[in-house]
Amino acid sequence: MTILEQMLEGTGSVAILGHIRPDGDCLGSTLGLYNYLRLNYPAVRAAVYLEEASGKFGYLRGFEEIRHQADEEAVDLCVCLDCGDLGRLGGFACILESAGKSLCLDHHVTNTRFADTNLVEDGASSTCEVLYGQLDSQKIDRTVAECLYTGIIHDTGVFKYSCTSARTMEIAGKLMAKGIDFGSIIDNSFYKKTYIQNQILGRALLESVTFFDGRCIFSAIRQNEMDFYGVDSKDMDGIIDQLRLTEGVEVAIFLYQSGAQEFKVSMRSQSHVDVSRIAAFFGGGGHVRAAGCTMSGSIHDVINNLSQHIARQLDL
Ligand code: 5GP
Ligand code: MN
Repeated sequence: MTILEQMLEGTGSVAILGHIRPDGDCLGSTLGLYNYLRLNYPAVRAAVYLEEASGKFGYLRGFEEIRHQADEEAVDLCVCLDCGDLGRLGGFACILESAGKSLCLDHHVTNTRFADTNLVEDGASSTCEVLYGQLDSQKIDRTVAECLYTGIIHDTGVFKYSCTSARTMEIAGKLMAKGIDFGSIIDNSFYKKTYIQNQILGRALLESVTFFDGRCIFSAIRQNEMDFYGVDSKDMDGIIDQLRLTEGVEVAIFLYQSGAQEFKVSMRSQSHVDVSRIAAFFGGGGHVRAAGCTMSGSIHDVINNLSQHIARQLDL
């Protein structure tokens, strides 16, 4: 029996949580577990609690049933997915605090083990891959497979980041065998962009700046630019990936304004800089090759502070 199966024994109610600004792996793992419980544990009352997510994930079964407000009633079990620390639960931390017991399934190297039981596989491509290992593969239907496949393609950049392993591909193959329309899932949730999303991507690339001899690149979007194009944080997917692909770049940084003097920071590295260490230093976290944090100050301050840490790792 897996840890999840053990913890579900005798459980009447389950709250499923992810992280603030939910991404593909967060939605895929939370809704994947939700659909799996509905199918295989019909007596269990389950609900997913997340912030408002991008509508491009609307094809995932249960997307419309996601609750955006915490309920008063305490649940027997709280399962936290793809969340590395308490702060990332945002306004839903109260659900964890009042729950009878809690389980965290995750793959972030910076995970703080905040739940009662924590299963953190930092070698896994995605939380969906960790979750797959906790489920009975025979009992996964097409709707669950669509969710898990979505999480895997998002956290592997469609099977190309270094976190992709032979096991990732094996799992993806098993999910494909459930009859999912994998091509549409990849196009609709990963590559497709709205007109304004393309515009903000173009703007970010146009205004990008290289430094440290072209080994680093950054771009920043201010609130007034977000207002001008009519975009919000959910429209910024993919910008950092394109910056990362700039020839000669080891570290890519993308910032967008999230407050008066505050920026949400995304970092990616190509081959050797550990960006999770830098993000963790500034109160964030993530993975060795992909991490993030929130920083205050001007764009200049943020880049200045980050570049000191990058310089050390680049041996400059
Ligand atoms: P992204 O740059 O795509 O927002 O995030 C890259 C990775 O870093 C993801 O795995 C994400 O969960 C993690 N991450 C991003 N921002 C934060 C943050 O502020 N705190 C923590 N702990 N992790 C973050
Ligand atoms: Mn993830």
